[in-house]
Amino acid sequence: MNQKLQSIKQNVIECIKCDLCKTRTNSVPGKGNFKSSVIFVGEAPGKNEDKNGEPFIGVAGKKLSAALESAGVSREDVYITNIVKCRPPKNRIPTSTERETCQDYLKQEISIIKPKIICILGNTAFNSLLGGSEITKFRGKIVLKDNQLYFLTVHPAATIYNQELIKVLNKDILKLFDLITELKNNKEIQIDIDYTT
Ligand code: SF4
Repeated sequence: MNQKLQSIKQNVIECIKCDLCKTRTNSVPGKGNFKSSVIFVGEAPGKNEDKNGEPFIGVAGKKLSAALESAGVSREDVYITNIVKCRPPKNRIPTSTERETCQDYLKQEISIIKPKIICILGNTAFNSLLGGSEITKFRGKIVLKDNQLYFLTVHPAATIYNQELIKVLNKDILKLFDLITELKNNKEIQIDIDYTT
């Protein structure tokens, strides 16, 4: 692992900056390839993640892995993290204070990895990073903000009991990696929402 990411990981493991440290079993730092073109950002660790200290390893994580595999991409090739790195009790949505307190870690991850695009998974990440809501209305869209590209899709957890959303997630992930290929080939891409204009 990259030395700077290793240091963030250690800081996350030891972090006591917000009250979620009191109820967690383990902090859950981001994980994956530091040379990845994409960072996936979810909401927060769940029960399995809290138990094992790794992101997206429960049922939702399996949905994400399956979507990646169907796009011909391995989990090891990408970087996956969350808005907050500790599990909120009973999987409640993290509060704005918790999100704000934790945001420096994500900013550091982004500044080290410098992804071509950030894939936002679900409403909490959409709201935290872009101030958005109703991800199902905006999913599949490409956003530009502060010289950073974002791609919006549903949270894999939302697909667990919804077969239609599985198709949506798979379709979006396929689109995302087609887009990444175009970015690597320096092709011009169509921005759907531009926060700079
Ligand atoms: S959620 Fe973030 S800020 Fe809060 S204790 Fe965990 S790592 Fe620290």
